[in-house]
Amino acid sequence: MKVLNDGQLRESAKVIKAEKQSSRGVMMEDVFRLMEDSGHEQVIFCRHKTSGLKSIIAIHDTTMGPALGGCRMVPYETTQEALDDVLRLSKGMTYKCGLADVDFGGGKAVIIGEPETDKSPEMFRVLGRFVGGLNGRFFTGTDMGTMPEDFVHAARESESFVGLPVSHGGSGDTAIPTAFGVMQGFRATALHLWGSDSLKGRIIAIQGTGKVGGRLVSQLVEQGAQVLVADIHAERAKALQEQYTGYVQAVDVATIHQQSCDIFAPCAVGGVVNERTLPELDCRAIVGSANNQLAEDWHGDVLHQHGILYAPDYLVNAGGLIQVADELKGYRHERVMEKTQEIYDMLLKIYQLSSEKDLPTCRAADQLVLERLHQVADLKRILLSGVTGWS
Ligand code: NAD
Repeated sequence: MKVLNDGQLRESAKVIKAEKQSSRGVMMEDVFRLMEDSGHEQVIFCRHKTSGLKSIIAIHDTTMGPALGGCRMVPYETTQEALDDVLRLSKGMTYKCGLADVDFGGGKAVIIGEPETDKSPEMFRVLGRFVGGLNGRFFTGTDMGTMPEDFVHAARESESFVGLPVSHGGSGDTAIPTAFGVMQGFRATALHLWGSDSLKGRIIAIQGTGKVGGRLVSQLVEQGAQVLVADIHAERAKALQEQYTGYVQAVDVATIHQQSCDIFAPCAVGGVVNERTLPELDCRAIVGSANNQLAEDWHGDVLHQHGILYAPDYLVNAGGLIQVADELKGYRHERVMEKTQEIYDMLLKIYQLSSEKDLPTCRAADQLVLERLHQVADLKRILLSGVTGWS
């Protein structure tokens, strides 16, 4: 082992201190720069030794109301990766809430950990206390890697949780309004492109036949559409083909986006519109439930240039959000479905704006959100005396 003399020790201590300060300095500067770039209000890092909880909560914008967004649990390899994810997702929630016209803003939480092995009831109770400490500025529930049952533990500590099991006062499966919202998207798209919102005889290619995709298949068959389906679990697609012989055809999962069809409906994973798939698309429109269908925003510009109509995913798949937002006001199924139906008119408005201004639909949608944020900010200049929190 190399032995350092006093002078060398002092020098190396100085270097270590400087390195620590610089790395802390750079990290803090980066967080604020990232927040500034994406317009975030607040980022909270939460840690609890005994339960092993490591979580980041990001509140993007509360102009429209308290932040609302799911909590996902992922074994992120670095804190940076977790931070990037929570910032991107929480900003997306502001846009989703804006177009869905609910009185909530954008937020999201991530837990750094492996859902299969790292979860415990204590971890979620601790999360419950951290979220509760935000005093109604943030509401959350299930997302990738978390289950309604996890939040039963969290809900013992605060009332800031949604999407609990029905037996615990939750509103149940969000795939029902989500699929209903996508159907509104199909119909509005048909009206815009072909002058009638009937789907009879239209060919729709569905990627992913899970909770949402599976529901769409049966509703589309009822409306007289022809449906192509693919799923990485090929047996799910095959089962639908057998159930709806003559109306549904299962195709290879690798080729679903290449099928010649009227509407391609991504209902599985994000990023399906990308540099590789763009030249292979053979549809007139893309309307589906998957989040973040465009790998990059500019892919929406390319769709526009090539005359493929894109229904912004965060509008079309807002049914689930509308349901959990309603849960916070005393859940009413009819109210959720009425609100979800409005996706039809909002999508037509976006298509119209896109045509009039020769704007890609994803940019037209962003513009409408920003207008709404300004309108709400302006009306909130009028003081409601005595109202706290929800004003
Ligand atoms: P799900 O897990 O029930 O179904 C997804 C299906 O896609 C599964 O059958 C899976 O096998 C299949 N799949 C996965 N990767 C695939 C691939 N590469 N190609 C083809 N199939 C693939 O999920 P869901 O609730 O039906 O949600 C579908 C999508 O819609 C997800 O992106 C989800 O984030 C989004 N979404 C869902 C809701 C909701 O309320 N359920 C709300 C908003 C958005």
